[in-house]
Amino acid sequence: MTVYVFGHTNPDSDAIISTIAVAELFKARGVDAIACKQGDINPETKFIIEKFGLDIPETITSVEGKTVALVDTTEPTQLPEDIEKASIVFVADHHKLGGLKNATPLEFYGQPVGSSSTVITNIFKTEGKNIPAKVAGAMLCAVLSDTVLFKSPTTTEWDKKAVEELAKIAGIEKPLDLGLEMLKVKSSIENDSALDLINRDFKDFNIHGKKFGIGQIELIDGSMAESKKPAILEEMKKLHKDGGYNTLLLLITDIMKEGSEMLVVSDDIPAIENVFGIKCDEKHCAWVDGMMSRKKQVVPPLETKL
Ligand code: MG
Ligand code: MG
Ligand code: MG
Repeated sequence: MTVYVFGHTNPDSDAIISTIAVAELFKARGVDAIACKQGDINPETKFIIEKFGLDIPETITSVEGKTVALVDTTEPTQLPEDIEKASIVFVADHHKLGGLKNATPLEFYGQPVGSSSTVITNIFKTEGKNIPAKVAGAMLCAVLSDTVLFKSPTTTEWDKKAVEELAKIAGIEKPLDLGLEMLKVKSSIENDSALDLINRDFKDFNIHGKKFGIGQIELIDGSMAESKKPAILEEMKKLHKDGGYNTLLLLITDIMKEGSEMLVVSDDIPAIENVFGIKCDEKHCAWVDGMMSRKKQVVPPLETKL
């Protein structure tokens, strides 16, 4: 048996590195596994993979008849179309349940922590299996990426403990320095088109039967995106119309200021303003202090207050 491991579409560093880590976990158990991805890796993930000399997972599009393990999502909108024709044997995630259905009992590991890599660190520990040093280094980066250097409200003590343990395994003395180096890579957006930036960390959600698209760009300094905002808004308007979205949101997160500028394109802007207690300016933009997490601060209010 070969287990195909993969995470959500438009993979972020946690989705890719968790995939590599779970493939290693299966191998440590004596089961053949292949790390896969849905979509291209982003510049930050490329930095991590090169830094630790790992292989880029292969692309997977169809999973019918395959044995699969999922990381970092259980949202059908973020999985291959034929996911229900696969045999899902394993899930490790840190999001809300996505509504995925499956036919057989499975291993399910979920914790409300800052990253899937933290959940997976704990599985290795529970099973008494060793994480290879270079995989541990990459997992450390994935935790720091998802928790935005522990500044995101999704951060827990489990994440800090995981980074401490992964740093020991990987021989990294100053994890936060490495995290900052990684954030600098993520923040260099000069060569990205408006559409690249929207798609960089973009997820579809079904909220009360309506299609929502929510993207996020995390920058050391939010003003780095200022000159690109008009073009981004134009692309969002196009995507809103062509993609059949009720609402498109883009968070331009300023990591140092610990907040986000929210760009809103929606069939019902007042309803969205109401959910977040904001007022958009003529550029469809509003600053939201303390807003760092799509998972914790954007999706739940949309689901409960709309
Ligand atoms: Mg993710
Ligand atoms: Mg994650
Ligand atoms: Mg993220």
